[in-house]
Amino acid sequence: MSEPLRVLFAAKPDRWPEYEAPLRAAFEEVGLTAEIGPEVGPAEAVDYIVLAPNGPVTDFSPYTACKAVLNLWAGVEEAVNNPTLTQPFARMVDHGLTRGMVEWVTGHVLRHHLGMDLQIRKAGGWDALHHVPPLAEDRAVTILGLGELGSACGQALTALGFPVTGWSRRPKNIPGITCLHAEDGLAAALSTAQIVVLLLPSTADTENTLNADRLALLPQGAVVINPGRGPLIDDEALLDALKSGQVGHATLDVFRIEPLPEDHPFWTEDRITITPHIASETRARTAAQSIARNVAGVEAGKPLAHRVDRSAGY
Ligand code: NAP
Repeated sequence: MSEPLRVLFAAKPDRWPEYEAPLRAAFEEVGLTAEIGPEVGPAEAVDYIVLAPNGPVTDFSPYTACKAVLNLWAGVEEAVNNPTLTQPFARMVDHGLTRGMVEWVTGHVLRHHLGMDLQIRKAGGWDALHHVPPLAEDRAVTILGLGELGSACGQALTALGFPVTGWSRRPKNIPGITCLHAEDGLAAALSTAQIVVLLLPSTADTENTLNADRLALLPQGAVVINPGRGPLIDDEALLDALKSGQVGHATLDVFRIEPLPEDHPFWTEDRITITPHIASETRARTAAQSIARNVAGVEAGKPLAHRVDRSAGY
């Protein structure tokens, strides 16, 4: 009988109780015998690492037999530049993470599209401003980033009737979405965007994607929704654009520093809505299935799925 695989769970110890049963069940489901946990023997005997970049493993050099490192998060910016992480490295693609993001993005797009804040009445307010929103078909939405999350959100918004434009690094063809790419594509994508959603990874190339010049390309009063990463937006430029009315509102889930410092000017700007990096969580059950399927594939000789391209940074 072959030796069980040794799968090191390298996240903060308080996450293990949540992941233990789902990971064991998922490995069993794909027919793999595995010893899984925060302690699985000497580093040189570990076959796979399940990684949270804020967890205990930061030096990957002792894991000489490790066949792959599987990230628990979709964002890989904290690990991708670690020079000791030379093993094949996969980001998280998880049904739960994708559907969670679709629900969060759809909810916040609809809040701004319908003008829910204007529509909701308190006592004595029945006769307040009568706000009739345009139909979704008359509200252009742009999504920056057409990966797992951006394309799923784009398709959900298309199904609701919004004309959706998406922007990515390389050319794409997604039914129902106007797909643009590269620098020229960005100007065109922003120029029509009454609502712009950022679902780009944080890389050297995507920093300040929304800077003062790019914010100026948006139609006046556009709404910015950022569940991607904080560095995608130039904070000062966004505050200036809100003050001038160029941007009507910003809903932000992610920030350059998290938790957002108490004295950050975003907290006191009425036209900013803050959520505390909760747009979508990795869900233990579906993430465990995604990890076990990926490991089973590698064990069967297939290439690691969702492999990070270190040169592109995502
Ligand atoms: P993904 O599948 O890797 O997609 C990334 C997309 O961004 C791709 O379409 C890619 O273009 C595009 N892109 C990358 N660099 C670009 C550039 N320089 N110019 C134009 N487009 C560029 O990632 P994902 O799974 O959709 O996740 C996206 C991000 O969401 C993650 O990196 C993470 O930061 C964030 N996230 C946030 C939360 C939360 O709770 N707030 C949860 C999960 C994820 P190509 O298609 O051409 O490669």
